[in-house]
Amino acid sequence: MTTVWVLGDQLSRRRGPLADDPDRVLLVEARAFAERRRYHPQKLALVFTAMRRLRDELRADGVDVVYERCETFGEGLDAYFDTHPGDELVVQRPPAHGAADRLRDLVESRGGSLRVVRNRNFLTTREQFDGWLGDPPFEHETFYRAVRRETGYLMDGDDPEGGEWNYDDRNRETPPDDYESPPLPAFEYGDHLADVQEWVREDVETWGDLQGFNWPVTRAQAERALDDFVENRLPDFGPYQDALLADDWHLDHSLLSSALNIGLLDPDEVVERAIAAYRERDGVPLHSVEGFVRQVLGWREFMRHVYDREMPGLASANQLGAERDLPPLYWDPDATEMACLSSSVGHVYDRGYAHHIERLMLLSNFALTYGATPQALNEWFYGGFVDAYHWVVTPNVVGMGAFGTDAFTSKPYASSANYVNRMSDHCGGCRYDPDATTGERACPFNSLYWDFLAEHEDRLRSNHRMGLVYSHLDDKRDAGDLAAIRKRARAVRDAAASGDL
Ligand code: FAD
Repeated sequence: MTTVWVLGDQLSRRRGPLADDPDRVLLVEARAFAERRRYHPQKLALVFTAMRRLRDELRADGVDVVYERCETFGEGLDAYFDTHPGDELVVQRPPAHGAADRLRDLVESRGGSLRVVRNRNFLTTREQFDGWLGDPPFEHETFYRAVRRETGYLMDGDDPEGGEWNYDDRNRETPPDDYESPPLPAFEYGDHLADVQEWVREDVETWGDLQGFNWPVTRAQAERALDDFVENRLPDFGPYQDALLADDWHLDHSLLSSALNIGLLDPDEVVERAIAAYRERDGVPLHSVEGFVRQVLGWREFMRHVYDREMPGLASANQLGAERDLPPLYWDPDATEMACLSSSVGHVYDRGYAHHIERLMLLSNFALTYGATPQALNEWFYGGFVDAYHWVVTPNVVGMGAFGTDAFTSKPYASSANYVNRMSDHCGGCRYDPDATTGERACPFNSLYWDFLAEHEDRLRSNHRMGLVYSHLDDKRDAGDLAAIRKRARAVRDAAASGDL
């Protein structure tokens, strides 16, 4: 008798062990998990509601489901093995470092056995990654092209569809002033969500708004979310994927990460739907579709393997020796008058979501140039987002956002106010001047940026991708401006640290 142990981020019935008509299914709703850090309440609501909905669906289909509600996995397994002694459990390999061994210990110490099988929430294998990329530094583009060739997605024989691998140069537009992205579908939830929300409200310390929950929690809802994205937002996804708008928190992004990361959607089906739209419909440009395919087929898979290869060192990597904690504005949007940061932190508070450029060029960029440790930033992202799991948040934050390692990021994503001003509508109404570097009204991003470059000159100047920015730093130094810029950066850090920026 084999029982499939379904973890909260492995809710797929279409592939993996749940697809093979299991004799029995075990789900353990272990609540102590919610106490490990201050999670976003919508993340907790999402995972526990989705688990209960899957339980109900399986039971309705006649599957024998054991659903344990308890404090820890250990307690849940105690209860399970009391009534099913000596069972073999089968589980998909959890992507978190060391998790499979921990689960095996828990099961074996209770007299059971655990069979760990391939995790079908990803398309590519560690062996493929190792074969394509070898040793670090790992290059995403090499990986992405290899996956395109291997899968045949967006390929025209041996060549990439349309002749180019990458259409990024067409994906850096900002929407016109009157632009409104299409409205999102609304989902109905029923009692489970209300129950979980009540528990979260009363028993758990969280950060974020519990209301306004609108994430897919079932397969049917996830399919609707995918349909809606492909139908309505995919055409503009590409051109506006780097833009930032104060009053449009999602723009044309897919909002599919939370469903993908718990197995309600498969990565290949979302890629195939986007490609089918390109082939079958007018008005779905290749640069949008390729841009989306690159995120899912490229970045999502790449980050998963980079994590696997670089852990455990990745979690504590801090190559620039950053020492500061995060300033209060990360928890309180009112602790800063920087319009962009305040808006973006507010988006995270409201929904546990910010789109990629907010995550990278606002929330990470500020922490990086401010000098916060990659670990403090990682902890904040891990707690604050509905789609955060260790395998995905850690490489994105520690590697890409905070430049804690150069194993797969060749230069820091640091930028001045120039980027935000060009790509967003934040600066017009902001107290701070994006064109000024010194003085009380100068945008903090400017002095922090130049100060960051000066501070890490020994480490970064020799990077050939940084040559141009260091020539600009030289100009500022030669003109005698650098001392005042660095003084302004110190004032910015002090103000941020005291919640008064
Ligand atoms: P879209 O912009 O519509 O992209 C489509 C899909 O591509 C996403 O749903 C996601 O599955 C995938 N994707 C795109 N970029 C990445 C990436 N860099 N890594 C992994 N998958 C990617 N993604 C998470 O799923 N969980 C996280 O906790 C997370 N933390 C991040 C932290 C930082 C600092 C940064 C820079 C990125 C992070 N990302 C994370 C990646 C990316 O920002 C999110 O996947 C994306 O914003 C989710 O929104 P969306 O579904 O609307 O994505």
